[in-house]
Amino acid sequence: MVATATPKKPEAEKKAAPLYSLESHPSPSVVKVGEDVAFGGRQVTIIAGPCAVESREQTVETARHVRDAGMKVLRGGAYKPRTSPYSFQGLGREGLAILEAAKRETGLKIITEAMDVDEIARVAETADIVQLGSRNMQNFSLLKRAGQLRKPVLLKRGASATLDEFLLAAEYILSEGNPDVILCERGIRTFDNHSRNTLDLNIIPVLKEKTHLPVIVDPSHGTGRRGSVIPMARAAVAAGADGLIVEVHYDPASALCDGKQSLRPSDLRDLVRQCRGVAEAIGRTL
Ligand code: PEP
Ligand code: MN
Repeated sequence: MVATATPKKPEAEKKAAPLYSLESHPSPSVVKVGEDVAFGGRQVTIIAGPCAVESREQTVETARHVRDAGMKVLRGGAYKPRTSPYSFQGLGREGLAILEAAKRETGLKIITEAMDVDEIARVAETADIVQLGSRNMQNFSLLKRAGQLRKPVLLKRGASATLDEFLLAAEYILSEGNPDVILCERGIRTFDNHSRNTLDLNIIPVLKEKTHLPVIVDPSHGTGRRGSVIPMARAAVAAGADGLIVEVHYDPASALCDGKQSLRPSDLRDLVRQCRGVAEAIGRTL
C-alpha cells in the first residue's frame, strides 16, 4: 500500500481564534466615530437619513430634521446598488459633495456606501463611516480594501448570508488591520413576501455570543414598509442592538428610492422617543 501524506492546512486556517471572536477579544468592542459617537457601549446610537442623496436641498433639509431629532450621524447613498439598471443610480461624486455640504451645515457625521474598489478611497474622504452594502457582503476585494482604511466600516449582512458567512466577511476587514467594524442586520430572504425582507432579530443574541463587534439593525430595508419600521426598531433595541440605521425623507412620496419605507421627520421623532423608553428599560441610554 502506498502511504499518502496528509495535506498540510495553510497557516491562516490553523489559527485558533478568529479576530471577530470573543476568544480573541473577550470584552465588547466600542467603535468610536470622532469624540462624541460610539457604537457598542451602553449608548444605543441611531443613524438616520435618506436612502439616496437626491439633491442638495433634499439632503440638507433632511439632515436638519435628523439633527433636530437629536441624531449625530446622517446616512445617504451617493452610489446606489439598484436591482434595475434603469433605476436612479445615485449622484456619485456630486452626491459626496452634497454630503460634505450637509456635514458643514449641521455638524452631523456621515455614513455612505462604497460600491467598488476604484471609488472606495474617494468615498472614505467624505465618509466618517464607510458602508458596505448587503449586495457586496462577499465582494472580497472590496472587503480587503475596506480593511486597509483608517475609518470605521459598517458591514451589512447579505440577504442570503448565514451567520458564519457574515462573520467571516467581517474577518476579511479585520484581518487587513481595520478593527473598527460594525455589523448590520438588514433582513434576509425567506419564503414569505408579506414584507420586503424578514428582519432576522434572532441573529442578535447569537452574534452577541460569538463576537465582540457592535451590531446594529436596519428596520427600513428589513421590512420595506414605513408602518413596520417603528415597531421593529423597538424590537431591535429590546433584543440588544447597539444601534439602528433608518431611512428618513422630508417628502417620502417624492423619494427617488425607497419612499415606501422612509419615515417622515415626525415619525423619526416618535421612533427616537419610543426606542429611548425601550433602551432605558434594559439599562441603556439613547
Ligand atoms: C442602503 O442602506 O442604502 C442599502 C442599499 O441597504 P442594503 O445594502 O442593506 O440593501
Ligand atoms: Mn434604501
